[in-house]
Amino acid sequence: MTIGIWVLGDQLSPEQSALQSCQPDQCRVILLESSSVLQRRRYHAQKLVLVWSAMRHFAADLSGQGWTVDLRECERFGDGIRSWIAEHGISELRLMEPADREFRRAIEALQLQVPVIWLASNAFLWSREDFAAWAAPYKQLRLELFYREGRKRFGVLMEGEGSSAEPLGGQWNFDQENRKPPAKGLQGPEPLWFQPDAITEAVISKVEQLDAALPGTLRPFHWGVSRSQALQVLDHFVETRLAGFGPYQDAMVSGEPTLWHALLSPYLNLGLLHPLEVIRHLEREGLRREVPLAGLEGVIRQILGWREYTHGLYHWFGGDYPASNHFAADRPLPGWLEQLGGSGMRCLDTVLEEIAASGYAHHIQRLMVLANYGLLAGLNPQALTAWFHRMFIDGFDWVMQTNVLGMGLFADGGRLASKPYAASGNYIKRMSTYCKGCRYDVKARTGDNACPFNSLYWDFLARHEGELRRNPRMALVIKQLDKLPAEELGAIRAAAGRHLEASAPAPR
Ligand code: SF4
Repeated sequence: MTIGIWVLGDQLSPEQSALQSCQPDQCRVILLESSSVLQRRRYHAQKLVLVWSAMRHFAADLSGQGWTVDLRECERFGDGIRSWIAEHGISELRLMEPADREFRRAIEALQLQVPVIWLASNAFLWSREDFAAWAAPYKQLRLELFYREGRKRFGVLMEGEGSSAEPLGGQWNFDQENRKPPAKGLQGPEPLWFQPDAITEAVISKVEQLDAALPGTLRPFHWGVSRSQALQVLDHFVETRLAGFGPYQDAMVSGEPTLWHALLSPYLNLGLLHPLEVIRHLEREGLRREVPLAGLEGVIRQILGWREYTHGLYHWFGGDYPASNHFAADRPLPGWLEQLGGSGMRCLDTVLEEIAASGYAHHIQRLMVLANYGLLAGLNPQALTAWFHRMFIDGFDWVMQTNVLGMGLFADGGRLASKPYAASGNYIKRMSTYCKGCRYDVKARTGDNACPFNSLYWDFLARHEGELRRNPRMALVIKQLDKLPAEELGAIRAAAGRHLEASAPAPR
């Protein structure tokens, strides 16, 4: 009997449960590099390089640890796995449960002729069962309660023992201290980037030769592609960025795409780093170095709170969630989203340019510029969620369903967020340097130079007024809408209409 272990591209850890179920001399490991993924999704070119190169490095690392590993390039997963099973007489195939629902469905649809054993995922702190047990009693789930439970359960940033333990510093959340607008001339520390080695160069050449025009620029490619590089990024974050992480984590500055952001999400999402090891390391080093607690708590909340929460919700909400479209938004994506530039709006073009260069933008650029635009303009939520999934270096289905569909677009009608995160140009003006030099006037909401975020914002409120009026958290903005003279609202909505008409959809 030969046991086969199939390691997926986002399960690149020797500690993952399928590998842990076997000794290196008792089984054979396969990783499949299939180009058919591009038929379903035109991924950002750098994302493809990252995943494929990380798989090749992981295969080499595993071989070095005594495992028998095959890495196959194939057109289709099904052909690759079937021929490998036949060639090596595999009698049982083991996989760790994928984080993305669609992977399991696709593998089950292959109807392989050997038994397939699914091992529960250990890639997150919360198992799906533990999350379900926590979530079941609540009518309305809230991140803050989940986060507090996580802090207690895993003993992170706590003082005291057992039931008398209290949050370090006397409060759970220091978010109010972490929302400073950018100071003049704000510059973050240089991030740690890497030069591609021979393995990565080979993958870049392969992607260059693919018969598919992928979005984004391929070179320079600077992401880490192995666990050792991911650990270096973690250390570099602690050394150079952790102390300054807090205050400007929501700020957006032209020419400063990374500021103090950790840049760990691609490595966490591929399995190169485990969230618990990152949290423990940050906590230990942050306390030893006496970095400001607001920043330390803020970065830990993103991993222990938000990341675990969105993954848990993705599975808890189930298979109907991706089809949610609360506002019945059906506008196709404008062509400039697919082209990663050319909107004429400086905020959007700056963020799109940064995504083209590296596949990365930080959480506020994603939420308050990109998703905010999608919400206000009524872009189809499924199309926009798929766009995020394809374009971001750290995008997977489990990440984007909850983050874009739920948090960004409120397409789930409030199952995740308590209100739509709609904002006018005023928010972008306050939190960024983008508006200076934009062809639009951020103070104007009517006329041809009206900031589109302004006209679309009021148009969105007016379009969904009846529904939003029922949400107590929207009471203040609805009051402002009520005060707008009908004539002015008409002019604002006309400006929104002209803007939308001018945004041609992407060619199919
Ligand atoms: Fe964006 Fe409006 Fe500011 Fe221009 S003026 S950068 S469109 S928010």
